[in-house]
Amino acid sequence: MDYFVPKSLSEAEKLKKQSARAFYLAGGTILNWKGSPRAERLIDLKALKLEGIKKLKKGVEIGAMTTIQEIAESGDVPASLAGASALFTSRNVRNMATVGGNIAGKFFISNILPILVCYKAKVKYFSNGKKKTVSLDKWLSENEGIIVSVIIENPDRIVKFREEKVAASDFLSVFTSVGYLIAGGRIRDAEISLSGIHRRLFISKEAVKFLNGKKQREIFVSALNEIVQKEIKPIGDVKVSKEVKRRIVEEHIINILSEIKGETR
Ligand SMILES: Cc1cc2nc3c(=O)[nH]c(=O)nc-3n(C[C@H](O)[C@H](O)[C@H](O)COP(=O)(O)OP(=O)(O)OC[C@H]3O[C@@H](n4cnc5c(N)ncnc54)[C@H](O)[C@@H]3O)c2cc1C
Repeated sequence: MDYFVPKSLSEAEKLKKQSARAFYLAGGTILNWKGSPRAERLIDLKALKLEGIKKLKKGVEIGAMTTIQEIAESGDVPASLAGASALFTSRNVRNMATVGGNIAGKFFISNILPILVCYKAKVKYFSNGKKKTVSLDKWLSENEGIIVSVIIENPDRIVKFREEKVAASDFLSVFTSVGYLIAGGRIRDAEISLSGIHRRLFISKEAVKFLNGKKQREIFVSALNEIVQKEIKPIGDVKVSKEVKRRIVEEHIINILSEIKGETR
């Protein structure tokens, strides 16, 4: 296997285009995992200065090579992102795993992606010699170039989440996140995203329409749950059946709504 440490984004891109089985290497937690693709060439991103968390005039920019542990410990990222990062499987994995790898790796479970969707994060990436910025959703569907950073322009969005694990040391089974703004006393610009339900990240289209325009106290749990349950098509696995995943999602919605309404459960 060939191993390269390019000094510039252009060099990294050129090296990638030369081989169909070339992979960018960040923390390596997916690339070194048993189910990982067989690489003929690894292009290590470590010399590209893509790490670090920078406060912006409005929001925060997180370099793609920033580790999940750095995010968990940072006082500059929104609290829900730091909190969800701290729940990542183990400190060893958190010390290696990067936010860029979390987005590009499309692992079957993520407690970072639903949170980033709920903050309406944008992805800055490098492709064909240029840097571009798109919504996370768009980047996930097009999967293009080298991720340079993740930008959260509105850290004041309200973002809540719940996670479910079969055992403390295990991967997550289901992660649910809800995000929104309050304007004129009503919910605006809502996002609901789940990981662990389908093979890929789930982003709600219907349930958010139901939330937008409502007062926080006006939301009926049963109505919201019914819409989410219609939208999701859970896939069962060896640990959790699809029926149990549906019940977990229901429980997450009940808990998140209770928190939103100020009645902690
Ligand atoms: C034991 C274990 C436990 C885990 N626990 C969790 C968990 O609790 N929560 C969770 O969300 N995930 C978890 N994961 C999944 C994984 O650790 C994360 O998704 C992690 O953030 C991946 O980052 P990485 O830097 O290690 O990626 P890598 O393995 O280096 O790369 C993954 C993929 O992304 C590509 N890539 C990496 N960086 C970039 C970039 N900047 N631009 C373009 N492409 C890039 C690589 O080419 C590769 O295809 C776990 C994995 C393992 C093996």
